[in-house]
Amino acid sequence: MPDATTDPKLRSWVTSANAPLADFPIQNLPFGVFRRAQSREAPRVGIAIGEQILDVAACLAAGLFDDADDDARLAARMCASPTVNALMERGVVARRALRNAVSLLLSQHADVNHRQIAEHALIPQHAAEMFLPAEIGDYTDFYASVHHAHNVGSMMRPDNPLLPNYKWLPIAYHGRSSTIVVSGTPVTRPSGQRKGPNDAEPSFGPARSLDYELELAALVGTSNAMGTAVPLADADEHLFGLCLLNDWSARDIQAWEYQPLGPFLAKNFASSVSPWVVTREALEPFRAPLAARAAGDPAPLPYLADATDAKRGGVDITLTVSLRTQRMRAENTPAEQLSESRALDLYWTFGQMLAHHTSNGCAMRVGDMLGSGTVSGPSRAERGCLLELTWRGAEPLTLSNGETRAFLEDGDEVIMSAYATRTGAVRIGFGSCTGRVVG
Ligand code: CA
Repeated sequence: MPDATTDPKLRSWVTSANAPLADFPIQNLPFGVFRRAQSREAPRVGIAIGEQILDVAACLAAGLFDDADDDARLAARMCASPTVNALMERGVVARRALRNAVSLLLSQHADVNHRQIAEHALIPQHAAEMFLPAEIGDYTDFYASVHHAHNVGSMMRPDNPLLPNYKWLPIAYHGRSSTIVVSGTPVTRPSGQRKGPNDAEPSFGPARSLDYELELAALVGTSNAMGTAVPLADADEHLFGLCLLNDWSARDIQAWEYQPLGPFLAKNFASSVSPWVVTREALEPFRAPLAARAAGDPAPLPYLADATDAKRGGVDITLTVSLRTQRMRAENTPAEQLSESRALDLYWTFGQMLAHHTSNGCAMRVGDMLGSGTVSGPSRAERGCLLELTWRGAEPLTLSNGETRAFLEDGDEVIMSAYATRTGAVRIGFGSCTGRVVG
């Protein structure tokens, strides 16, 4: 259940954290890896607060956690490292103790002397360079949105959009971690084999149908040994937190290569993640059941069924994707929103994805990442990729400046963001996950 760190009455002495639409109020406290821009400092773990970053290692060195318990100090020590992996390895108890200590330190009721010292451990986010938050080992991308699966399936098989396994198990493929990059990294248009339905033979060249996929990603914070399964009742405890994920996809390469083994080069050229990991603790107030399954859908098999997961296995997160074209930048007009969808419309919870992933004894390691798959909803405005929005390019979008898009063009910047809100809780956000296409 929510603890004192998510109390909606909490306010911070960092005033930008108290703005009504702030992504990083004191109730959030997400972890990221940063250093001062244009510096040679070692990248280290910080915590976002308002428009600032709290340098946790600097706070520890300044003695600000001397009154905190051993667990909190141990966790703070891990924040000197260049990824959140060491912090995750320390375990749930340690990171919760650190979260409590940082919440006290940043609260408006903080000790005045502590506050004065902590002010020197704040770095403005605009003056920081961000890095990948975790060293990601293995990456698995699921296909958990039934609306996305239904739309994509309809393009291939109008009479039978969902394959028979879809409602029985969380479908996924093994992705590649070597090309996961942090938000802001330019994405080079991939080349590959393309073969349109009317082409006699494939040709090799730059992808013509480059797309984004709006996803959430969960970081595994607790490992399981090979040969053991993580029961669904425990699965949530194994997850450290969530960030945004753009699973860039080359649809023309994908259409030709995907049979019979699934995605390969169409998806492993770049995947962007947001720099801030929003922890399970911060998301507690927003836990909720997933949207009800359609009447007649099969009940999950016992290993994918759990009363708590059914009641609060989902997280009420709203995700948006916006596009800023080269012309919009030249004319100084803002990005245009393309879609908005909700994570509660997924068909499977992250707990079910992890329980299924380990059900055969597959070992998960700290830092492994699980992608949700494109988060789409039932309506047109909730389609989380261009493949769906333009129906494979057949219905190009017209932007408000008159430009049209079937797929992404060079110079296009894709901007993803997300937030969670609920009556009685303080809204928290994920920041953004951006990437610009270069030719
Ligand atoms: Ca995907």
